[in-house]
Amino acid sequence: MICANTECATTFDSKTHNQKYCSDECCRVATNKRIMQKYYEKKAIKNGAKRLCKKCKAQLSRYNIEDICSSCLKKTNAKSRKLLQDIIDEII
Ligand SMILES: [Zn+2]
Ligand SMILES: [Zn+2]
Repeated sequence: MICANTECATTFDSKTHNQKYCSDECCRVATNKRIMQKYYEKKAIKNGAKRLCKKCKAQLSRYNIEDICSSCLKKTNAKSRKLLQDIIDEII
């Protein structure tokens, strides 16, 4: 396993299947980093930073907490509904 802390990236033997970090310290550092990242993301959104839809690059509303726009979200939902319908049709 390679430590999931990118600043460490040490190779280590994982004792459990879900161990991602070589040490508790790395786990702590990485968790803090993730928290800070989320914090800055939220702050940027609040300050009106421009965010673009992951799929169609349309500008996202600052009130949209998703990373895709509402029309893409609708499309994605329709797609998954269609997929579900196909599966159901196949079963029946
Ligand atoms: Zn590490
Ligand atoms: Zn979109």
